Amino acid sequence: MTDIAARCIREQPRFKGIFQNKGTFERRVRLASPTMHSDEKTFINQAFDEGFTGRNIARLEKEAAEYIGVKHAVAFNSGTAAMHMAVKLAAERLYGSAAAVPISGGLGTVGALQGKRVFCSDFASSTMADSIVSEGGEPVFVDVSDEDWSMDPEVLEIAFQRYPDVKLVMMNHAYGFPGQIMKIREICRDHGALLIEDASESLGAKVHGKQTGSFGDYGILSFGSDKIITGSVGGMFLTDDDYSSKKARSRASHSRAAAPWRQYEELGEECRMSDIVAGLILGQFQHLDEHIAKKRMIYERYLEKLDGDTMYMNPVGEGTEPNYWMSCMTCESNILFQETRSEREYTYTNQHGTASPMEIYDALEAFNVESCPVYKPMSLQPVFRNYDQITLDGSKREYAEFDQEGFWVRCDVAKDNFDRGLCLPSDIKMTGEEQDRVVEIVRSCFD
Ligand SMILES: *Cc1c(COP(=O)(O)O)cnc(C)c1O
Repeated sequence: MTDIAARCIREQPRFKGIFQNKGTFERRVRLASPTMHSDEKTFINQAFDEGFTGRNIARLEKEAAEYIGVKHAVAFNSGTAAMHMAVKLAAERLYGSAAAVPISGGLGTVGALQGKRVFCSDFASSTMADSIVSEGGEPVFVDVSDEDWSMDPEVLEIAFQRYPDVKLVMMNHAYGFPGQIMKIREICRDHGALLIEDASESLGAKVHGKQTGSFGDYGILSFGSDKIITGSVGGMFLTDDDYSSKKARSRASHSRAAAPWRQYEELGEECRMSDIVAGLILGQFQHLDEHIAKKRMIYERYLEKLDGDTMYMNPVGEGTEPNYWMSCMTCESNILFQETRSEREYTYTNQHGTASPMEIYDALEAFNVESCPVYKPMSLQPVFRNYDQITLDGSKREYAEFDQEGFWVRCDVAKDNFDRGLCLPSDIKMTGEEQDRVVEIVRSCFD
């Protein structure tokens, strides 16, 4: 946003009072940023002194496995790398080894998911869909529930009716608010499908007292820079399966076979976590509960001050304990006529008594506050939009064939969230007073 545009917004009558009283935020209020303590340095220094023996990695893996309640945890250099490994291992378990096929001049590979469909939450980051497509698979996007913003078990059943041959399901817990993973797991078992649980955003969140990341055949954690605890980068692969854990570990460091020399009998990669990063995360791990408590306070303050007739906070699913990683709001549905978006741009009109997400986004930006529209669904992304998407009203492809007139609106929770939702600053370094000012700005948008 240019300085002039920001000034124009601040000078509107509805914001003038706020600006005159307190001006803009001198220190930018962030969505989520790293919060460091001193324990991190202790572990990192140890790694320095000992010469990167891998002791931090081993200790972190042990702590993570114990904390989540799984048999094995394997540390990766990112959540994305851990996810990709999970997809490969799942695909090989289901369809056999990724074929190394002869091509001119040597060996090439085809993806382990070549030609296979995979069910994947529509309301998520691109990580799941990317790893499916890069293994040659075809994602089918499954809509989310409006009760928790994560994969809707009812829609998953509909998806299996349309594509009964699918054997892999991938779901995330959006913004740290867990979905109905127990029902999803049951449906997967009924259909003989494997489940990959992306707990990248939900570390520390629970479903019926059990940690997210422990429900799937494979679980994923991320320690990326905006996550609830962070190593600046980092990820974790979780499983109870001995064979998969051994494979993941060996493949992530070049698949060296047990021989005195460098012996390679399988394709490998280099994507293990560094001992320094592991030290950083170990230090952070000691403060996870404290971070969750602070995130929760932020969410509850928003809930108290914003949730009402015209705005709603992201829903908490039954039987779940979120880690409250990201507080998000949605605007009342009548704003849909006020805002339009193209692929990359947006416009809106302001109307008394209502406000649209981008209107609030601009107002916050004018006061140096970071916010962000919620996930744009995968099924709307140019790179993925040709794949099918299933909602309570069935397949997008069927809808396109039979209902082009648009006399009924197809149920699409992920799209509705995107149209109406905004991630609010959820940084645990934000003070209560700062948050109250953020709330004041948001409320003023409705004047
Ligand atoms: C952060 C995140 C990941 C993994 O991200 P990395 O930055 O590679 O660690 C995966 N899925 C979701 C939903 C995420 O939020």
